[in-house]
Amino acid sequence: AALLAGRKEKKEVTQAEFVEAVERQIAGLEKKSRRLNEKDKKIVAYHESGHAVIAEVTPEAKKVKKVSIVPRGLAALGYTLNLPEEDKYLMQKEELIAEVDTLLGGRAAEEVFIGKISTGAGNDLERATDILKSMVMIYGMTEVAGLMVLEKQSNKFVGGGFAQSKDYSEKLQEEVDSFIKNTLEQRYKHVKNTLKKYSPVIEKMVEELYEKEVIEGERVRELIKEFENPIKENDEDGNNS
Ligand code: ZN
Repeated sequence: AALLAGRKEKKEVTQAEFVEAVERQIAGLEKKSRRLNEKDKKIVAYHESGHAVIAEVTPEAKKVKKVSIVPRGLAALGYTLNLPEEDKYLMQKEELIAEVDTLLGGRAAEEVFIGKISTGAGNDLERATDILKSMVMIYGMTEVAGLMVLEKQSNKFVGGGFAQSKDYSEKLQEEVDSFIKNTLEQRYKHVKNTLKKYSPVIEKMVEELYEKEVIEGERVRELIKEFENPIKENDEDGNNS
């Protein structure tokens, strides 16, 4: 952020430089020159809107800072920047599930609004799967293994990944697998229903993303609010009935 401020010959580092610095770190440099074709642009706009709406209507989820369909870095075609409202070091179970929902929002939006799915959700699905896996195997948050830890954290950091020697039964492994698969399925269904309910918000967001390429989190919250509490035309003359 300090470097960015310096380049602009600013005397102080402001929020704008911090946000840009975080975005560069997360998603890479903006690639304004890389144009998306119409088909990809549509997919990315719906996909990112899906992430953003789910994040905003899920109470435990991290709130949206920005939604963008400007390609960044090597792989990101668009992205939704979510930030927690304050620094935190612990995650509760509900917050992990909220994160899974938010991650599934992209793929779900593609299916609900475009009717076809793309490869764009690959990384989201990997992260959602990892969160559920950790809940079962490391944090003792499910009934599948109870408080039994199936994946030692020490192994995780040494080996990087889950491919360690197992000291639990095949049967338990199968239960873990079906828990992860079923939970993903169940959350995905929930997320699709939520998106259907908020489809006017999604359509409006996609429209604005086409126009401006970037929407601030504040605008997303505004659209949701307008949808949830539509202002009636004749409310303006102070009639609060
Ligand atoms: Zn995504």
